[in-house]
Amino acid sequence: MENYKCKSVGIIGSGIQGVCTGLQLIKKGIPVTIFDRQDPLSQDFKPASYGNAGHFSPYAVLQLNRPDILFDVPKMLFSSYGPLALKWNYVPKMINWFFYYLKNCNKKSMMHTAKNMHQILSLSNDAYEEIFQEIDTNGLVEKKGIIYVWTNKNLKSRNLEIKVRDELGIKQKLLSQKEVLELEPNLNPVFDAGIIYESAMHARDPHGILKQIFKLFLKRGGKFIQTNIKSVEQSKNDETILRSEKEEYKFEKSVVASGAFSKQFTDQLGEKIPLDTERGYHVHFKGQEKLISRPVIFLDRGFGMTPMNQGLRAVGTVELGGTENPLSKKRIDYVIRCAKELLPQLGAHEDEWLGFRPTLPDFLPILGPSLKNKNIIYAFGHQHLGWTLGAITGKIVSGIVAGEKTNLDLSPYSSKRFN
Ligand SMILES: Cc1cc2nc3c(=O)[nH]c(=O)nc-3n(C[C@H](O)[C@H](O)[C@H](O)COP(=O)(O)OP(=O)(O)OC[C@H]3O[C@@H](n4cnc5c(N)ncnc54)[C@H](O)[C@@H]3O)c2cc1C
Repeated sequence: MENYKCKSVGIIGSGIQGVCTGLQLIKKGIPVTIFDRQDPLSQDFKPASYGNAGHFSPYAVLQLNRPDILFDVPKMLFSSYGPLALKWNYVPKMINWFFYYLKNCNKKSMMHTAKNMHQILSLSNDAYEEIFQEIDTNGLVEKKGIIYVWTNKNLKSRNLEIKVRDELGIKQKLLSQKEVLELEPNLNPVFDAGIIYESAMHARDPHGILKQIFKLFLKRGGKFIQTNIKSVEQSKNDETILRSEKEEYKFEKSVVASGAFSKQFTDQLGEKIPLDTERGYHVHFKGQEKLISRPVIFLDRGFGMTPMNQGLRAVGTVELGGTENPLSKKRIDYVIRCAKELLPQLGAHEDEWLGFRPTLPDFLPILGPSLKNKNIIYAFGHQHLGWTLGAITGKIVSGIVAGEKTNLDLSPYSSKRFN
C-alpha cells in the first residue's frame, strides 16, 4: 500500500459529509468530482446540512437507543404535543428498522454507541478548526457554549446522561434555573434546571459554512456536476461507475455520501442496510435572534433554538415517516408552540422547512467500504450529529479511500454489523 495513489474519486452528495470528504481528498492530490442534484451554491440547496440547528456538539454521545427512552415511546407517539411523531402510512416500511432499534435499545448497546460516538466526536471540533484556518468564518461561527434546560419530570434520564458523560470525561457544568436565567434572561422560566457545554460552538449559518468549504474544494481543483445519480456499481475490473439519466461516469473509487438517500445505492449493491430517516423541522423568527445569545435546547420537548443570521431558528422533533411524505403542519405548529413557550415575546414565523436526518437503528454512522465492492466507500448515517461530524468524517473517509493507516478503531462503523 505504501506507494499506492488513488487515481480518481466520484462522490454522490454535496452535503457536509460529501464536501468535507472531497476537500480532504483534493488536499491529498487525488482528483475528485462531487455529484449532487442541487448546486450547493444555489438558494435551492436545502438538505439536512442546510437546515440543521447548527450545533457543533462533541459532547452528544448518548443517542436515542436508550432503554429509558424506549418506555416513553408509546406515550410520546400518541400525544399530539410530543417530541416524537409517526406517519402511520410509513410504518410497514420501517419494520426492519424498528426490529434493529429494539435490538439495540439496551444498556450494553447504548454504551457501545456512546463510546464509539465519543471516539469520533472528541476529534470533531479540531477537524473543523483545521478547515476554519483556510476559509473565512467571519460572522458564521460563534463560541458561546450551548445550554440544555429541563423540568424535573424526567430526572432519571437527565441523571443517566450526566453520568455517562462524566464517565467519558466530557466537561459539563450544571446550572440552576437562576443561573440559566443569568445567561439567557429573556427565557420564560418554565424549566427547573440546565447544563452548559461551555466549549461548544454553533454555526450562525450552516449553509454559509458549507458554501465556503465547497468553494475551497473548487479552488483547489475539485469538480462538481449537478445531476441526479441513478446508480452506482463496481465493474469486473474494479472500476466504479456512476450513472445519471443520460451519462456514465467512471472513477477508480466512489463515495456514497447521500445522507438519508444513500439507501437506494446500498440496496442496488445488494447490502441490507436498515438506513432510514428521522424527519426534523425548522422555522425562522426573523430579526428575533438577539433574544438569546447561544443555542438553547428544551430536552422535555425535543426542540431547540439557535440564533442565526437568518433569524432565530427554532428546530426540532423526530418524525418517523420516510423521505416522501409531505411536510406535517402539525409538527411545524409544535415547533412554534415550543418556541413561544420559552420565548412568549416571539412574533410571526417564516420559512417552514422539513429535513431528513440519516439514521441507522444503532445510531452509529457507516464509514467504510461496501462489503461486496471494496472500491465503493460509504459515508452516511450521521443522524442528529452529522453537522458536528462533517469535518472528521472527511478526514476518516478520505484516509480510507487513500488506503492510509489509522489509529482509530473503525470496525464499529462498518456495514458488516447489519449483514
Ligand atoms: C432538524 C434537524 C436538526 C439538526 N441539527 C443538527 C445539529 O445541530 N448538529 C448536528 O451535528 N447535526 C444536526 N442535524 C443532523 C445533520 O444535519 C445531518 O446528519 C447532516 O447534515 C447529514 O449530512 P449528509 O452530508 O450526510 O447529508 P445531506 O446534508 O442530506 O446531504 C446529502 C446530499 O446528497 C444529495 N443526494 C442524495 N441523493 C442523490 C442522488 N441520487 N444524486 C445526486 N445527489 C444526491 C442530496 O441532494 C444532498 O445534497 C440536524 C438534522 C435535522 C434534520
